[in-house]
Amino acid sequence: MRKKMSCIWLCVVVVLLQLTLSWGGFSMTARADQSGYGEDAYYYMNYIQTNYPSRVVGTPNEKAMESWLIQEVTAMGYAPYTFFTEWDQWGTHYEGDAILFEKPGRSSRRIVVGAHYDCVDTHGADDNASGVGLLLETAKRMQQVETEYTIQFALFSIEEPGAMGSQYYVSRETQEYRDSVAVMINLDTIAAGDNMYIYGGSMDEQGNLVRTWGAYQALATAQALGLNMSFHPDVNENYPVPIKNTASDHMAYDFHNIPYIYFEASNWNGGKFNNFYQTADSRVPDGQMMHTWMDDLEFYNATFPGRVQNHLTSYSILLDALLQNLVEGSTESVVAPVQYTDVTETVYAVSDVNVRSGAGTGYGVLGILGKDTPILRTGYNGEWSRVEYEGTTAYVASAYLTTEEPEITIEETTAEESSIEESVTEESSTEALTTEEYTLETKESVLSTSEEKTEQTDTSIEETALPEQEWTEENRHTSSWWIPAVVAGVCVAAGGGIAAGIIARKRRR
Ligand SMILES: [Zn+2]
Repeated sequence: MRKKMSCIWLCVVVVLLQLTLSWGGFSMTARADQSGYGEDAYYYMNYIQTNYPSRVVGTPNEKAMESWLIQEVTAMGYAPYTFFTEWDQWGTHYEGDAILFEKPGRSSRRIVVGAHYDCVDTHGADDNASGVGLLLETAKRMQQVETEYTIQFALFSIEEPGAMGSQYYVSRETQEYRDSVAVMINLDTIAAGDNMYIYGGSMDEQGNLVRTWGAYQALATAQALGLNMSFHPDVNENYPVPIKNTASDHMAYDFHNIPYIYFEASNWNGGKFNNFYQTADSRVPDGQMMHTWMDDLEFYNATFPGRVQNHLTSYSILLDALLQNLVEGSTESVVAPVQYTDVTETVYAVSDVNVRSGAGTGYGVLGILGKDTPILRTGYNGEWSRVEYEGTTAYVASAYLTTEEPEITIEETTAEESSIEESVTEESSTEALTTEEYTLETKESVLSTSEEKTEQTDTSIEETALPEQEWTEENRHTSSWWIPAVVAGVCVAAGGGIAAGIIARKRRR
C-alpha cells in the first residue's frame, strides 16, 4: 500500500513540475488567488511584453491591450468602463481610453491606483507593464478583503506623449469625484531601476512643500515593513525631497491639488539626467533603459538577476498595506514595526516548512527547509525567524524551528515497536512533503470539476497550520499555541494528501 501510494505521490510531483508554478512559468488559467506578493505582477509583466509589445497610442496593439485588460478585470469580478480621452499636441491628435473600475469600501472616500498601459515602440516591460502588472495583482487581491476606502483602479492611455490621458480624464470628471479622492497612488516604471523610490507632494506659490503626508506615510510604512525604499537624494532644486510631481499620471491629480504617492525605481545619484537616470551600471549607456530596446524582461533578468521580482514584491507589499490601512493626513507608518531579537545560532526544522522572502504568508516561497535540516538564525520574534538561506536573508515561521539538535540514535526496541516507529516517521514525512505539493495541486485545479472543488483548501504549511500571523504584543512572545496548531495541520495535511491522491488517481485513468 505504501509503495503504491509513493508511486501516486511521484506522479503528482511529476504532473506539478510540468505545470511549473514558478516565476513566469505558469499559464493563464493556473493563476491562484493566494499568490505571494509580486508573483502575479511578474506574470502579467511578462504576459504583456510578450503579447502586446509596442502598444503605442492609437495602434492595433494598444487597442488589443485595452480589450485584454477589460477582459482580465471583468474576470476578476469588476465592472470596468472606459472614459474616452483625447489630446492635441504639436500638431498630433491622440485618442485613447482610460479603463476605470472600482472596489467599493465602507466609505465612499477614494484611493485611486493608477498606471498607464500605453508605451513607446519597445517591449515596454518596465515602462509600464510593471505598473500595470502590479495594478492587476492588487485589484485581484483587493477582491478578497474589506477596505475602509473605496479603491478606484485607473489604467490610462496617452501617457507617453505627455501624461495627457490622465489630465483629460481628471479635468473632465466632476468636482464631486475630485473632492472624493484622498490620495492617488501612481505606479510607473517600478521594476528595473537601481533604487526603489517613493515620491509625493508639491510646492505652493510661496514655495512651501504641501501635500507630502502620503510620501512620508508610505516611507514610514516601508521602513516598518523592512522594505528597502527611500526618498530620492536632494540633488535637483526643481524636485525638493520628496516631490516629483511631473512626468506621469499623478501630475493630473497634483494639478487639482489632490495628494499623490508615486512609486518609481530609478537612480538619482550622479546621473546626468537626474530623474531619468535609472541605473549606475556601466553596461547601460547613459543609465537609461526605458524607451530603448533594453526595456525588456529578459534583458533585466540577465543584467540584474532577481531585481524585477524583488522590486515588484516590495512595492506590492507596501501598496497592499497602504490600501488596507491608509490614514489620511498622517505621516506615520500604518503598520507596527517588525522587531527581532538578534541571535546567531543554528536551528533545525521540526518538519518540512516553507522558507519565504519575507515575514508573512503572503511572501513568495524561496524553497522548503526539510525536516531536521540545520539553518543559521539571525533573529526571531514570536511568529517569524530571520534566517540565512542560500546566501540571502529569508524567513521561516518560528514554530517550525527548534534549537535542539535532532537525535539520531538507534534505540534498542522490539521488532514490532521499531517497525511502527519507522512507519510513523515515513508517514509524517510523506505528509509534510505532500502538503506543499497539494498547494500546487489546488492552484492547478482552480478550474477543474466541481467534485474536485470541494478539496480546494490551500494547505501550504504555515497557511493552514498556524493561526493568522499578527504583529500584536500579545502573541509576540508566546509559543505554546502552536502545539494544537501543528496537530491540526497534520490532520489537514493528511486530508490534503488523500485528496491529492484521489486527484492523481483520476488523472492516471
Ligand atoms: Zn511610463
